[in-house]
Amino acid sequence: MGVELKNNIKAYWWEAMTRLRENIVGIDAAIFMHPRTWEASGHVGAFNDPLIDNKDSKKRYRADVLLEDHIAKIEEKIEKEVEKARKRFGESFDEAQYRSTSPRVVELQAERDRINERMVNALTNNDLAELRQVIIDAEIVDPVSGTRNWTDVRQFNLMFDTKMGSVAEGAGTVYLRPETAQGIFVNFLNVQKTGRMKIPFGIAQIGKAFRNEIVARQFIFRMREFEQMEMQFFVRPGEEMKWYEYWKEFRMRWHRALGFGDEMYRFHNHEKLAHYANAAADVEFRFPFGFKEVEGIHSRTDFDLTQHQTFSGRKMQYFDPETGENYVPYVVETSIGVDRMVLQVLSAAYTEEALEGGESRVVMRIPAPLAPVKAAVLPLVKKDGLPEIARGIIDALKFDHNVQYDEKDSNGKRYRRQDAIGTPFCITVDHQSAEDGTVTIRRRDTMSQERVAIADLPAIIGREAGLRALLEKLS
Ligand code: ATP
Repeated sequence: MGVELKNNIKAYWWEAMTRLRENIVGIDAAIFMHPRTWEASGHVGAFNDPLIDNKDSKKRYRADVLLEDHIAKIEEKIEKEVEKARKRFGESFDEAQYRSTSPRVVELQAERDRINERMVNALTNNDLAELRQVIIDAEIVDPVSGTRNWTDVRQFNLMFDTKMGSVAEGAGTVYLRPETAQGIFVNFLNVQKTGRMKIPFGIAQIGKAFRNEIVARQFIFRMREFEQMEMQFFVRPGEEMKWYEYWKEFRMRWHRALGFGDEMYRFHNHEKLAHYANAAADVEFRFPFGFKEVEGIHSRTDFDLTQHQTFSGRKMQYFDPETGENYVPYVVETSIGVDRMVLQVLSAAYTEEALEGGESRVVMRIPAPLAPVKAAVLPLVKKDGLPEIARGIIDALKFDHNVQYDEKDSNGKRYRRQDAIGTPFCITVDHQSAEDGTVTIRRRDTMSQERVAIADLPAIIGREAGLRALLEKLS
């Protein structure tokens, strides 16, 4: 089920980013690249996380994450105060006024801003002693030991390395790519020339990335081996902000088209920018453990291409036939984790529902185009020719859709099993089917049932569970 869901998420991204657009094409670059690539990109020197250990629990944390979680807690307190006041004042509640005058909220907001500003400055200036001091001053305790017995903060490089070459002496260090983007940058001119692309244009890629994360936690939120879907969009210098806004808007639309509710998403604009960026924002999704990043949109300037030009001694310039100029393009990137999308879909879709008669069901309300199995075909009994009719339906559907056959247990139990894996349609074959070529089709979310002709099934399932239904919302 997992790999089916993942494949559907990847197809949704790929089709939305490449097939629907004339000016974006895909590539599949290598995981191992020339080691100098990662010097050029800045990853050898600066792809670090600040680490801190608690001396009592011996647990290790990312100093910035400890602070961000602390800030999120303060923000939660503020929201609780506001909600309480909203209930107290009812209709006449003026939220803006309350936020600016309630002594408790003003105090919390000031504390939040103070900690945030000090953290951003410490990270920007790479001031590790100050970063530790902010943690001490904010009185952050280790969630395990409950103490404030912290070590110094140290930098830790996130790249995995290994040796390439057959003999140990001759072997050189190579890295597992920590992002797929660099494969796009070094291939930029190949793709531009062979694909006859004109600026603005994009290159998209889906592939594995590897990071030696200190704390890989929260199920599959943070992994050491994960998959990214990245698109680098090459633009004229000076036009990057326009395109940055364009991609922010489009990527948010892509998320919201899934129908989990617009309030489940928000932007988080970065105050501390990565070494390559002049603007950056995250799309955050409301996970059960709070709003967290699922995607980053970054204006990467001409940093990467210029660095590769310098390190390789090869020009990375584009000749613009419209202006007659040669230049190194600017880049706007959209970068999203496949696995984090899986977690997003699972956590948004999972529902426990009370049914009539005291029963309950677990139902995964996965958007039908992403559902691992589109339909289950269920013969009411295992005889009288019904299994053969069911198999016939599967044979007609299987070229377009992932479908399942199930004849075990009662129909009620079969429905529950399909609800739990998010199958949008259950098709029941009964004795009437043998007579008039119709079946009942039951919808997962409403549990409503309808009698339809077997001949109409491909069209119904295609319309409601095909990717097209989603993609049309975007164009
Ligand atoms: P974080 O701040 O959470 O470490 P990041 O800002 O370093 O993430 P990016 O480098 O912008 O992340 O990566 C783009 C996307 O790749 C992220 O939005 C996320 O969906 C995914 N991603 C990054 N690191 C991981 C990981 N360790 N496990 C799973 N997905 C990841």
